[in-house]
Amino acid sequence: MNELALGHEWGGDIVDVTPRCPKCRSAQIESRDIGRRFGGAIGAIAGTTSGVAMAITGAEIGLLAGPVGAVLGAAAGVVIDGIVGGATGCAAGSRLGAAIDRNILRNHCCRTCGHTFANAQV
Ligand SMILES: [Zn+2]
Repeated sequence: MNELALGHEWGGDIVDVTPRCPKCRSAQIESRDIGRRFGGAIGAIAGTTSGVAMAITGAEIGLLAGPVGAVLGAAAGVVIDGIVGGATGCAAGSRLGAAIDRNILRNHCCRTCGHTFANAQV
C-alpha cells in the first residue's frame, strides 16, 4: 500500500507531508524543538515550585493539628504536590514551548545545507 502511494505523485493530488528545506529542497530536516525543551524544563521547575509552596501552606495548616501532623503533612504534601505540579507545569510548558517553536523560532534545520527556517515547505 505504502509503496504504491509513494511511487505515484500526481502533481498536487497527493499531498507530500515530508518537510523540505526551502533553500535546497532536501528532505533531511531536523526539528530543533528548542522552545519545547526549554518550556518543558521551565514549566517543570515552576510547577514543582508552586506545588512545594502549596505543600508548605498545607504544613502551616497542619501545625494547628500538632507537630507530628505538620511533619507528616509536609512530607506527603511536598512529594505529591511537587510531582503533580512538576508534571502539570512540564506539560503546560511543553505546549507553550511548542507554540513558540512553531511561531517564533527557526525550529527546523536542514542537514544538507545548514539552512534554518521556521516552517518547512511541503
Ligand atoms: Zn537545505
